[in-house]
Amino acid sequence: MHLKNQIFRNYFTSNKQNGLSEIFSRFLFLSLALFLSCSTQPSKPENIILFIGDGMGLSQVTAGRIVKGELNLDKFPTSGFVTTHSSDNLITDSAAAMTAMATGYKSYNGAISVSPNRDTLKTLFEYAKEKGMSIGLVVTCTVTHATPAALVSHVDSRNKHTEIAKQISENDIDVLMGGGRSYFLPATHDSSKRKDDLDLIEKLNQKMKVVYSTEEMYKNENTPKLAVFLANANPPTATKRPYALSELTRVALKILSQNPKGFILLVEGSQIDWGGHDNLPTKIINEMVDFDDAIGTGLDYYNNNPNTLIVVTADHETGGFAIHGGSIAEQKVDSTNFTWTHHTATMVPIFSKGPGKNAFSGIIDNTDIGKTLKDYIVN
Ligand SMILES: [Zn+2]
Repeated sequence: MHLKNQIFRNYFTSNKQNGLSEIFSRFLFLSLALFLSCSTQPSKPENIILFIGDGMGLSQVTAGRIVKGELNLDKFPTSGFVTTHSSDNLITDSAAAMTAMATGYKSYNGAISVSPNRDTLKTLFEYAKEKGMSIGLVVTCTVTHATPAALVSHVDSRNKHTEIAKQISENDIDVLMGGGRSYFLPATHDSSKRKDDLDLIEKLNQKMKVVYSTEEMYKNENTPKLAVFLANANPPTATKRPYALSELTRVALKILSQNPKGFILLVEGSQIDWGGHDNLPTKIINEMVDFDDAIGTGLDYYNNNPNTLIVVTADHETGGFAIHGGSIAEQKVDSTNFTWTHHTATMVPIFSKGPGKNAFSGIIDNTDIGKTLKDYIVN
């Protein structure tokens, strides 16, 4: 105590002439630094990228991390956990989980942005459109699958793919990438899964460029609105897809960023879930690595556009997946197990970076994601 006082006294006596002015200038410097650090990060984002790893629990993330060495997810400063139950079941499905994230409300398993009473629940994408923002969907399943569907349609059952396709074609989507072309073709077409004569591809053609390969996608990456159908049904598994999810994500961001009013983009690693249902660790890991590469593309975009909020989470965990053996040094996972072939109630991880990231920390509910993102879009 005495020594401290002595040092303190010495500091002031040795700076007798300029002590006060030095303290004042230090105060000014610190205030300026604090002001600059606060003002460089706005509290709300102008753009939002929502990455959903379907069925991506902590073991799925961990397995991908062991094999890849490190993940882009490692670079996220904020993380937490999300409770996922639906309105009628402890174990959610993708439809109820995405309805919660897309609207801020719980509904029943199978619901696509309708309430338990079948009332329409307004989605983040609908709020975004009202604000003049662009909207985009990039998935590795059909574009009519539950996760993308819950952002752009309202249906009482996720199985009504042809109705979801109709609503998608009536929507004003700026980027649409994935499989599911069959649901958009009239019944007269060989590959059609429709029972009516509606040509929804033609309907989409009237408002956006529609292409069927990544080669054509690259030729049209400066177009204002683009649909890329990469399969009639679901695209193949990661090792058989002739493109990476990160490539699709890059082109989607290039198109969406043309809008000065901002955008919201969903990117889904759709098939991590299917590896869980099939109890195939290799499939989970390959899909997880492809998904994490796409997250890296999101981070590249953030680095040039720090007004962007990135949120990465899952709709639920699948398989009760656990890692029993492997090696970090050899980057391998060689002993795993599953508790069953369906979804589980375990909380899922959430990662966030960019303006407004702090709302996605601690333990939150999946409806909190929808409520917070709606607040960022509307206010
Ligand atoms: Zn599933």
